[in-house]
Amino acid sequence: MRIVPAALKTEVTLECYACGYQQPYKLPHPPCPRCGHDFMEARYNYAAIRSRWPQILETRPSTMWRYRELLPLFDDQYQISMGEGGTPLLPAHNLGMMLGTPNLFIKDERQNPTNSFKDRQAALVISMMKEANVSELVVASTGNVAISYSAYSSHAGIKLWTFLPSLVPPEKMREIAIYGSEVVKVTATYDITKKVAAQFSQHKGIMDDRGIRNIGTREAMKTMAFEVAEQLAEVLGPAKPGVPWRAPDWYIQAVSGGMGPVGFWKGFQELYQMGLVDRIPKMALIQADGCAPMVNSFRKDLPEAEPVTSPDTQVITIATGVPGPAYGYLYKIAKREGGTFESVPDSETFRATHVLAKMEGLSMEPAAAAAFAGLFKLLGKGVIRRDEIIVVCCSGHTFPVEKFLLGPDWVKEVTESDVAGEAPTPKPPTEDLLGALDQLDERVKTIVIMEDNPEAARLLRRILQTRGDFQIAEAHNGREGMALIRRHRPDLILLDMMMPDMDGFAVLDALKADEALRDLPVIVVTAKELTQQERQRLQGQIKMLLQKGSFMDDDLLDDINALLDKV
Ligand SMILES: *Cc1c(COP(=O)(O)O)cnc(C)c1O
Ligand SMILES: [Zn+2]
Repeated sequence: MRIVPAALKTEVTLECYACGYQQPYKLPHPPCPRCGHDFMEARYNYAAIRSRWPQILETRPSTMWRYRELLPLFDDQYQISMGEGGTPLLPAHNLGMMLGTPNLFIKDERQNPTNSFKDRQAALVISMMKEANVSELVVASTGNVAISYSAYSSHAGIKLWTFLPSLVPPEKMREIAIYGSEVVKVTATYDITKKVAAQFSQHKGIMDDRGIRNIGTREAMKTMAFEVAEQLAEVLGPAKPGVPWRAPDWYIQAVSGGMGPVGFWKGFQELYQMGLVDRIPKMALIQADGCAPMVNSFRKDLPEAEPVTSPDTQVITIATGVPGPAYGYLYKIAKREGGTFESVPDSETFRATHVLAKMEGLSMEPAAAAAFAGLFKLLGKGVIRRDEIIVVCCSGHTFPVEKFLLGPDWVKEVTESDVAGEAPTPKPPTEDLLGALDQLDERVKTIVIMEDNPEAARLLRRILQTRGDFQIAEAHNGREGMALIRRHRPDLILLDMMMPDMDGFAVLDALKADEALRDLPVIVVTAKELTQQERQRLQGQIKMLLQKGSFMDDDLLDDINALLDKV
């Protein structure tokens, strides 16, 4: 990977988070000599960097090291890069249409070398370790940090000891082992696993990563903020004249230790200080109902987190019961800047995993999908407005979750013997296989979609297609639709109200006037707020009214299936 040399001499000062005392940077950083606190912030020469950046950035590749001047590494020869960062900011068109959120973006952190944003941490921390001449390192993890640190340690020739709670899925343990790391499986919660790792590191005199207390982890995560601000400006334009980059209204992330949001916020603070953005986004931090120490503590307005001692969630990656210093930090930010904490049940997280895969083509682990489940909930509550600029962090491996998402029949099997059956002289196998394949596509019910907006029609079709057993015909205006209805005699009609020339009301009138079509069930899907009068006109004429942007695919499918069963 291409090394990105610093254009300015790196100058870093460590500032005590508690008392503000400043000292020169050192690794490992000692506690504050004035107050003893061990949480430090890195400070740089922002004015010098601000004046040089516009010109420097033009020539740089889009990796995390693009922002090299704001990373605490002194000598570029220790820089380790496997292409981390520079991940795309994807506009979520389908989901945005379903939710009625036109400015919804997904920061696709899956596209890092080991598929999670932990690669940003690993790249910087392992580079810093190399610079400090460290040859062995201890890390505790719920899976993804261990995978990522293993890859980068292997690249750097550092020996890594990983401590994992036994609930970490075997697929992840296996990957860690393959990189050549030591895997220590601890039959306990993650919080106890962390203690075991710390004891081991002390006992053996091996350096501990120290998670969020290591400034490298937070400094690395802030590069996500820099990228989002640069990328949003590309899509939506600069914030205003003289302020070249752009902040979203909301950043949403599933959290455990809180490294991501602490880093993200620091990044925006630096951008704001340098005049590259005009404000700092609010953050919505999501946890699982069964392990939500930050959410519970925030609801009680506690400045320090109350631990959850026995986490009860299947979303292992974020099952951290003792959040550490991040909570207090994030609590203050949320109080000051208006962010929020929210929790979601595992069932909603699994549903979101499935929705994102089916509707956006993004397969992710449940820990990443929890952020989307949180988004759905916060939109429902009105905490996040649908017209706001929203960035959801999608970090996380694709992962064997089908047992949670799909029924037992999720794979369609075709074998030769299926069709050969009892026939005395079996047909040639190719023909049998074709016969069996035909049966895969057995479509029982016919649905006509009448919708003038082709994007909305495509979305409805997509939702129906994910169940595979509907025959779908699509019309883009009322007249075309009536012709389709006469031809297909569908089992159901999905009708938009606002269409050119023959609108939804006219279609309903035409159906009513025809003896043969009068009883066809109709679901109205509309973007329009209907008036009292219009609602009255629809009474008795339709089975159901769905407001666009307020239904999720599963709701629609459940409603349709329920309706078709009755017909
Ligand atoms: C690590 C991780 C998180 C939580 O990250 P923090 O910001 O440290 O709380 C969420 N999702 C995935 C997929 C992760 O790997
Ligand atoms: Zn101090």
